[in-house]
Amino acid sequence: MNTKPCSIAGCSQDVSASLDGDPVCLQHFISECYTRLDRFEEIRKGPGLTAADSESVRRFIHECTRHADEIEHAAKDLDNLDRAKLLHIILSASELGCHLRRSPRKMAAIPVRLSSEKLGGAWEESTETVLVSRYGALVRCKHAAKAGDTIHVTRGDTGERALARVAWQRPLQNDDIRIGVEFVSCENFWGLDWGAVEEARG
Ligand SMILES: [Zn+2]
Repeated sequence: MNTKPCSIAGCSQDVSASLDGDPVCLQHFISECYTRLDRFEEIRKGPGLTAADSESVRRFIHECTRHADEIEHAAKDLDNLDRAKLLHIILSASELGCHLRRSPRKMAAIPVRLSSEKLGGAWEESTETVLVSRYGALVRCKHAAKAGDTIHVTRGDTGERALARVAWQRPLQNDDIRIGVEFVSCENFWGLDWGAVEEARG
């Protein structure tokens, strides 16, 4: 695809991909992706990612996923080990992306109406959120909902409605069940300034 050599010093292999815009060969693409995924994972588990980190992590996830996927699909002479490594990179990057999606969060009691149209077990409940994030919420809910169930969330104040997926359910001692929901497709359902929430957290 390109006749320029790999940009890593001392390497003369043909270029297969790029990282931060620098051309790299397949082996250096794989090793660099592993190094960065490990480093981001350590930061995430330790001090936590700052807003600036999150931006560069997002860019990295986007670039490395696109190239790994392209190479995995297009390269004819790929051996099984390299193929497995590329798939591992795609999966690790998408998991890292999921963790980014989950923050920041904010404690907030926003009135909502939950409704499940599950066949044979439809229910509705007026309740409120406990914690909200850009992409979802932790909501008090007396009804049993399984992970993967689809529900509608309607805001009690604005009437805005969104489709969400139950991510998990945590039953408490007194039947005040809480469920975690993730919006299927909705930008900023809660109408909060998430940049300000992120700063306040750090
Ligand atoms: Zn190289």
